[in-house]
Amino acid sequence: MSAHTEYPEALNLLARAFTRLPGIGERTAERLVFSLLDWTEEDLRQFGEHLSELKKNVHICENCGNWADSRQCAICRDSARDCKVICVVETAAQIMVIERSRCFHGHYHVLGGRVSPLDGVGPEDLNIEGLRQRLKENQVEELILATGADVEGEATAACLKDTLRNDGLRMTRIAFGVPVGGDISYADAATVAMAINSRHSAD
Ligand SMILES: [Zn+2]
Repeated sequence: MSAHTEYPEALNLLARAFTRLPGIGERTAERLVFSLLDWTEEDLRQFGEHLSELKKNVHICENCGNWADSRQCAICRDSARDCKVICVVETAAQIMVIERSRCFHGHYHVLGGRVSPLDGVGPEDLNIEGLRQRLKENQVEELILATGADVEGEATAACLKDTLRNDGLRMTRIAFGVPVGGDISYADAATVAMAINSRHSAD
């Protein structure tokens, strides 16, 4: 018998929804719901509104794949940023991690995943074509490959190296220190800055 049987169904439903979030187990989910029950009706209504309008209000930048308020993200719209350098990441969340380190002032490109044959993800499932287009249209001088240091991340970087290689383009790989095999999503700002500042030629 579930430990939840004595709770009202509405409480169970919400708790179950919370357990879909990363790092939230059943106990934590329950605590979150109990806490929400102490909120005012108005605060709950606003919270619900933020949730229900999240997808409508967060757009995907048509240029780089980052999250955006409008058709283009704040980074692509910022003319002070160096458009000659593009840092290639797997997810939009990784852009936020690098931005927090304040060590990079170029542009980004979100692949939307990584090459992973076991999960049935091939290069054709990633936004490589969009990147190729950007390289063609802009005078990009350096491509920083910031995909993960694990097998899939390395395979993705190798694939980019092979398919995007051209004479005028320098491709570099970020330097992973500790933790080996990690990806930048979990690194602190100082580690991210180190990884980008000590990048080396990808060849
Ligand atoms: Zn953008």
